[in-house]
Amino acid sequence: MRDLRELDTLLARLDGAGYGAYRALKGGWAIGPGLELHVDHVQGDPFAAPSRVRVHLDAAYAGFDGALLQSEARRTGVAALLARVFSGADRPGHPSPPGARHPVGRRTEDGGAEGRGRGPGGRRGPGRAAEGRESGGSGRSGEIRMEHPGQVVGRQTAVQLHPDGEVEARFTVGLPARGRRILGRAARTLLTRTVPDRIEATLPAAAHDPRALLRAAETQEDQEALRSALLAAGLVAFIADGALLPRRSGRDDRPLPEEEAVLFRSPESLRVTLDTPNSGPITGMGIPEGVTLIVGGGFHGKSTLLRAIERGVRNHAPGDGRERVVTRADAVKVRAEDGRSVAGVDISPFIGELPGGRRTGAFTTPNASGSTSQAAAIMEALEVGASTLLVDEDTAATNLMIRDRRMQQLVPADREPITPFIDRVRALYREAGVSSVLVLGGSGDYLDVADTVLAMHDFHPTEVTARAREVAAATPTGREAGPDTFPWSRAERVPAPGSVSARRGRRPRRIRVHPGGILEFGEERIDLSSIEQIASEAELRTVGYALATLAESAIDGSRSIPEMVRELDARLDAEGLDVVAPSRPGTLAQIRPFEVAAALNRLRTLRLR
Ligand code: ADP
Ligand code: MG
Repeated sequence: MRDLRELDTLLARLDGAGYGAYRALKGGWAIGPGLELHVDHVQGDPFAAPSRVRVHLDAAYAGFDGALLQSEARRTGVAALLARVFSGADRPGHPSPPGARHPVGRRTEDGGAEGRGRGPGGRRGPGRAAEGRESGGSGRSGEIRMEHPGQVVGRQTAVQLHPDGEVEARFTVGLPARGRRILGRAARTLLTRTVPDRIEATLPAAAHDPRALLRAAETQEDQEALRSALLAAGLVAFIADGALLPRRSGRDDRPLPEEEAVLFRSPESLRVTLDTPNSGPITGMGIPEGVTLIVGGGFHGKSTLLRAIERGVRNHAPGDGRERVVTRADAVKVRAEDGRSVAGVDISPFIGELPGGRRTGAFTTPNASGSTSQAAAIMEALEVGASTLLVDEDTAATNLMIRDRRMQQLVPADREPITPFIDRVRALYREAGVSSVLVLGGSGDYLDVADTVLAMHDFHPTEVTARAREVAAATPTGREAGPDTFPWSRAERVPAPGSVSARRGRRPRRIRVHPGGILEFGEERIDLSSIEQIASEAELRTVGYALATLAESAIDGSRSIPEMVRELDARLDAEGLDVVAPSRPGTLAQIRPFEVAAALNRLRTLRLR
């Protein structure tokens, strides 16, 4: 490995040379005691995607205590803290946190066309622009940036803490230039002072309050334990007393300031206590398996509660407010999404023969309606193995959810292809073991089919199951009872080879994330704005890489969608996130098979064999 002196000599020689000469930096450099810098990719010009680097801190320099290294959960929690601090989000005045409700692209993947020709700080927030100016160079000169983990704590590739105590951090640097001429001195300052200083101030244990490190490790481990406890307790979700559920806004995933929020308090009848390894027994509300209804007046916190449950499939950082809100990892939010494409999904449990005699056993359309899109979302979630469905009235298709007595009389059954969810939800649980948590303030018909009814009032839940039974008995709906079966073929769809490709032109892979949850994939754009359980840009990007990996290695006309996404999930678990992106970017985050399938299902070129 080359050393600092060689780096000095090289950069002195490169000063004033054409930008392409920076390629000589590629490779490893020992830039300090216990500190290595690896330049993996050198940008083509100062306006292009910045150069990708990795740093390795050996265990002695990193200095992490054995207690922080002893489980994967602990290391993951600590690594996320390091990434959060390095990426600068904890600095006061951080301009715009990622991890908003819908992934919001703040930049394109490699700067590409949009990045070209702009001066320092062109599209960046005020807090970030300064770094580019330091060197006085062009384009992204002097910029240091790392993917921000948002509020979620899970496996990611920006900072990793290895079992032996070594730290690996990945980020990008803009190699300095004026015009297209290398600024050798600025590069030297960047690589031998600015970068090591930033590392020194953010990555070693000594840069942190030991209590904060321990808390990050323990919080993560506790969340894993809480989630693991759900199944044995017969619960689909758990919300601890004292949790803070509301967010700052629909675009800002950080918690509402505590003085503005009503903290969660469990109703006595649903109160359960779960054990954690580091915080002892924790008390809160357990949502039991079966059919759960969340009712209550408008603006009383129903959707906020469901959203916290949706995101409970992931762990959250200490101080997020949801770090003790956990949901079974295979719970899937489903919703209406008119206009989406659907490829060969059996939606017949909900929708029979369509106008014109179209059958729905393998329903295909480039332009689904509200009800057919939601029916497809449900069946696709079941195909991949969802144990729990989450539905909010705000985003559901009314005609798929209910049909009341009067409508049953007005529109005869033989003219209505829809069997509403209300007539399937019990059988779905009984026959397929799939629970439902439904936010429904507008239809009392569901009182007949619910096992548990929860009322939200002034952001407080109470259990009203008994009262709901009385109301249901006293005021019958007069509905004709539905079939109460779930005739599900369990067909697993097999994608046709060649119908999924990340290629574009000569590039084997073209994957970018765009604002609003749009994934550019090859020549296609996949709209994932309705996939609310994708919590960050990094997750969206990783879904794209995962899909590309499937296209290249798994879609061979023999494997079904559930087979291939589960296989990939197992590989991600065993080998790490880098298996989907051999270029080893520091911009990946943990994903679930459900979201990979969701992307595949929305790819408009998808065909079945
Ligand atoms: P609903 O679905 O019942 O109509 P929402 O969940 O959309 O209600 O909440 C309405 C508003 O109240 C939102 O702005 C939300 O951020 C806020 N809110 C929700 N829960 C709380 C809470 N526990 N404390 C303070 N504000 C809350
Ligand atoms: Mg609502």
